[in-house]
Amino acid sequence: MSEDRKIIYLDNAATTRTSPKVVEEMLPFFSEYYGNPSSVYEFSNASKKAVAQARQVIADSLGAKPQEIYFTAGGSESDNWAIKAAAEAYQEKGRHIITSKIEHHAVLHTCQYLESRGFSVTYLDVDEQGVVKLEELKKAIRPDTILISIMFANNEIGTIQPVKEIAEIAREHGILFHTDAVQAYGHVPINVDAFGMDMLSASGHKINGPKGIGFLYIRTGVKIRSFVHGGAQERKRRAGTENVPGIAGLGKAAELAVNTMEERMKKETELRDYLMDRVMAEVPYTRVNGHRKNRLPNNCNFAFQFIEGESLLIMLDMAGICGSSGSACTSGSLDPSHVLLAIGLPHEIAHGSLRLTLSEENTKEEMDYVVGEIKRIVERLRAMSPLYEDFVKKGR
Ligand SMILES: *Cc1c(COP(=O)(O)O)cnc(C)c1O
Repeated sequence: MSEDRKIIYLDNAATTRTSPKVVEEMLPFFSEYYGNPSSVYEFSNASKKAVAQARQVIADSLGAKPQEIYFTAGGSESDNWAIKAAAEAYQEKGRHIITSKIEHHAVLHTCQYLESRGFSVTYLDVDEQGVVKLEELKKAIRPDTILISIMFANNEIGTIQPVKEIAEIAREHGILFHTDAVQAYGHVPINVDAFGMDMLSASGHKINGPKGIGFLYIRTGVKIRSFVHGGAQERKRRAGTENVPGIAGLGKAAELAVNTMEERMKKETELRDYLMDRVMAEVPYTRVNGHRKNRLPNNCNFAFQFIEGESLLIMLDMAGICGSSGSACTSGSLDPSHVLLAIGLPHEIAHGSLRLTLSEENTKEEMDYVVGEIKRIVERLRAMSPLYEDFVKKGR
């Protein structure tokens, strides 16, 4: 592999490139303004201000108050905190939680942990496009239900959930509603009052910010326990000296995301539809996974019959194209992704899936090259597939 090989990066759901403007914003807080925000002397004011400013920018981006934003070490921590701390704080009222079968593992594994601690969890089915069924949600509600946690948009298939309707149902029943908005925040408009969520998780590295920083929005009035015990940072709920460069970078990334959202959504949607339409028209025996319209502007997910997604990924990699066959966390295991199984794909079709997630930096020329490579590779893999041979022999 040569050093200067050109890469076409189509895995923005796994992580994004940190924007150079974000890096520039972060740099002074390493060696220049390194003061601890909790210190009293003048020198620490720059750090203190940077944290306050990022909190304000993020609050504004959601229509929230600054004191409702808590910095964390990323999306996984925010999900863990929201679910575990709500479970603990509300267990006198009940010990039942509702979530969906297509959540990120940060939510699913947290729920499984709570089951081992005596909580009961309902994992809702989704329809074939990956949408939670509201009637099933209503039926799942019990007198002891304390929390509904449903993601805003899915990281694999891009489907956007009817979050507003879910929030209304939760509110009517006096149940807390948390949403994992890691894939949606900064990519589609979100307002915590218009949508009505009580808690929301987001992460820096999915919006061209740094890795290892995120936040949890907690609506005023929600009883929630401290997640990290120690100092008085984050209103005594998440102790530890603030990750000042990370927070400054997250604030800048949020600001850029909000300011460029409209333009980016338009550009990504056009490019996504171009890629999707060409692949569907030019590669036979292919389906699109996820909702055709209600999906993230940058998400494409295909299932190619008669091939293995892993082989496709390796060959795309050799052509300089970075994609994913499921979520990064499940790669390495041979089970098809829980999300693809939940939308009803049979194992053999789920195995032939490919996720391509774009950014505003991608171009139409890149998409043309990618379509050509997909066609060439899928044809080659099918030519080696005994299943495809059988299928062709049977006269289709
Ligand atoms: C990436 C992701 C997470 C985890 O965020 P980290 O910052 O990597 O911990 C959680 N949920 C969803 C939907 C994600 O896409």
